[in-house]
Amino acid sequence: MDEAEQLQLEMADDVRRRLQERMILPEDVERVIRQAEMSGRKLIGQVTGRYLASLRPKAVTFWVEYSQEREGYRVHSAYSHRMVMKSSGSTAEWEKTGKVAGNWLCNQCRIPVEEQTVRLQYMQSIFPIKLPACSGCGFILIDEELAITKVAEAEQALEDK
Ligand SMILES: [Zn+2]
Repeated sequence: MDEAEQLQLEMADDVRRRLQERMILPEDVERVIRQAEMSGRKLIGQVTGRYLASLRPKAVTFWVEYSQEREGYRVHSAYSHRMVMKSSGSTAEWEKTGKVAGNWLCNQCRIPVEEQTVRLQYMQSIFPIKLPACSGCGFILIDEELAITKVAEAEQALEDK
């Protein structure tokens, strides 16, 4: 992929509206996809064939679910959170839980993500939490449902303290 090349992004009107409501800019989406495609660091939906990738350019992590089209990419959804995901210890210490989470496969390691105990950090607080993660490279998944519900609520609660 050419560094300077503008990516062609397609999205349905309802997706466009959702992104606007979430204050996610097309540039944010483009940056996530560009980084994921150049690095190969993304998850693949085994049923849908869609990709899920994230990027944290500054204080916000952006996630984009997308698929490749003949010319460019189709964006299915995007969401963000401010909490930081941290794995506890090295992935070598992770147990193989065998609890396959969702249908996501790590693109780089070619193994399904499994539930692992990881940590979320925000401001001065750290929470242990079970999240799907790749035991090969440590890629931690915060899915859309979680990001827009529990994670958003926890961030809000901490800010209000
Ligand atoms: Zn991996």
